[in-house]
Amino acid sequence: MFAKNDQMPILKRYSADLHIHTVLSPCADLDMGPVNIISAARRLGTGIIAITDHHSAANVPAVMEHAGDEPPLVVPGIEVQTREEVHLLCLFPDLHTLNDFARLIRDKLPLVQNRPDLFGEQVVVNGKEEILYFEEMLLTGSVGMTVESVAREVKMREGLLIPSHVDRPAYSLLANLGFLPPGLTVHALEIARPELKERLLAAHPNLKNSAFITSSDAHFLSQMDSAYMTVFYLAEPSFQEIRLALGGEEGRKVSIELRVRPEPGAA
Ligand SMILES: [Zn+2]
Ligand SMILES: [Zn+2]
Repeated sequence: MFAKNDQMPILKRYSADLHIHTVLSPCADLDMGPVNIISAARRLGTGIIAITDHHSAANVPAVMEHAGDEPPLVVPGIEVQTREEVHLLCLFPDLHTLNDFARLIRDKLPLVQNRPDLFGEQVVVNGKEEILYFEEMLLTGSVGMTVESVAREVKMREGLLIPSHVDRPAYSLLANLGFLPPGLTVHALEIARPELKERLLAAHPNLKNSAFITSSDAHFLSQMDSAYMTVFYLAEPSFQEIRLALGGEEGRKVSIELRVRPEPGAA
């Protein structure tokens, strides 16, 4: 608690991976269960993760439950593919709000039965990684909503909207629309290849003041150990602190840094 606004809290450094798929995403490996995801995050020292399956929030509780009160902080999220085939990370302050958003998204998803032989299994688990059920509706594909309408629904729920992998040639805001629509509230842009960020900014100079993150977009466990990582400087690991950092407010900040790995043989 601070008596005056001019007193800055002590900020700590938290590495974050805000884009991770679980066994519920048909394209993800069956190793992507809560136990493995949490232990990989702890091994890597990742302080904040977000679970962002395609069009469903059904495995978020299991990952949150498995993490318990210990790090990492698990941010509830979902990855939406809009009518324009643009991928958007939608993150929410709590599970209740995410579930409300996920119900809306499910209603806008075309009714197609999953074919596990073609697309892969969509497994819903609990925190102990026991199988609860198999999701039968195919979770990939586009929902019948535009980028603008998804953005509006996220904003209404005080969520964070982060267009996914905007530097990829497909399923990305910049590739599919060609530009960041004026008036669209985005809290950050996710880039898959931070080493090429300058090239992206040269092509899109209007983005130079945007917040950028990078994430693993892990569909396999080994992908969580990405070369670059997002680092937040926060008073504590919380959704509201992440929001402040993405907005560059109250001294909080976000940066993309090379992952520092422990020296071989170090304790
Ligand atoms: Zn994506
Ligand atoms: Zn993804």
